[in-house]
Amino acid sequence: MENKTNKYLIPVLCLLLACLVGYFAYNAGKASSESALNEKDELISELSEKQEFLNQLNRYSVERIGVEEGKTIYVIGHMNPDTDTVCSAIAYARLLNMLGFKAEARISGPLNKETTLALKEAGVETPEELVDASGENIFLVDHSEYAQAVAGMEDAHIVGVLDHHGIGTVTTGHQVVYEARPIGATATIVWLDYLNYGLELDQVTAHLLLSAVLSDTLNLQGTTTTEADRLAIPALAQIAEVSDVEGLYKRLRTEALSYEGMSDEEILYYDYKNYEASGVTYGIGLVNSIDEDTSKKLAARMKEAMAESFDTKGVDLMYASVGIRENGEKIDYIVPANERSESVLKNAFPDYDEYDGTSYIFRSGLGRKTKFVPGLNDYLAAHPHE
Ligand code: MN
Ligand code: MN
Repeated sequence: MENKTNKYLIPVLCLLLACLVGYFAYNAGKASSESALNEKDELISELSEKQEFLNQLNRYSVERIGVEEGKTIYVIGHMNPDTDTVCSAIAYARLLNMLGFKAEARISGPLNKETTLALKEAGVETPEELVDASGENIFLVDHSEYAQAVAGMEDAHIVGVLDHHGIGTVTTGHQVVYEARPIGATATIVWLDYLNYGLELDQVTAHLLLSAVLSDTLNLQGTTTTEADRLAIPALAQIAEVSDVEGLYKRLRTEALSYEGMSDEEILYYDYKNYEASGVTYGIGLVNSIDEDTSKKLAARMKEAMAESFDTKGVDLMYASVGIRENGEKIDYIVPANERSESVLKNAFPDYDEYDGTSYIFRSGLGRKTKFVPGLNDYLAAHPHE
């Protein structure tokens, strides 16, 4: 009898023990996965608190933008406006609105074909033109040169500059927001600012910024492109709900390359900028080309156009830069307007590859922002009487 009881008791006890072990192990596992979840939640809330703190800190840093009592801030880009300058101005004016400032975008002149398309595709009206900046509250984007700004900028109240070029001639005595970065587009800086201030980008504004980054970086092929520009494109495309980014770039680029129905002078001054260095003023017009043959023909036409219009532009030196900037290739045909422009060019850039009687040819490119302007400025500073 006793034997029989023992015979059953041991397996029953073993079974009970196994159940107990299993029960405790199950509960321990459940508790540990619960605590892992709690830890994750805590980490997320800690990180978002940290993020909110940084966003707030960034907002505090611009709360004292020096707006004159009750006046609107006009956000404006350079003359001969391009897509980056116009779209950045619109997007940055919206950012200032979200931060509680009275701000509106303005343009400095009629829009080119590419920018017209960029606004149309985003569904945005063309901003009003600002003819005279004197006495106005101004936030400059995409430039800091009086020579590239609308009339009256010397007498404007400049409250900020957002740019990706060299420091220009604009100065202020008072405190100012000055944000410049060596990256591919002003629009990328605007995107970074939305992130830094913790502001939500709407679909339309994201569409504008996307077009601007594509345009200024030549779809990330431009020499000034950075990883920040590369990351901006998919992020902006998602918010803008643009699935075919390549298609958008192609449509914009086709407009930029189309000089259909334009006179030679209009082509020369389509993407033209003025500069001032060491008391010398000069202008450079960029002209887009597709191959060597077209470049030579365009260069000859630009030489004529400069001969006819040079005297009316009030500059000491002038150049046309006809460039092939497709598929990673970069060849620039630099056409000087007159003898003085030519001698400065040859002395400042003696390493050109070829001279064909009209153009000085740079087979690895002479980018206006990256090489041409810095090189001329250095040369003019070292040779003040040329
Ligand atoms: Mn620009
Ligand atoms: Mn730009």
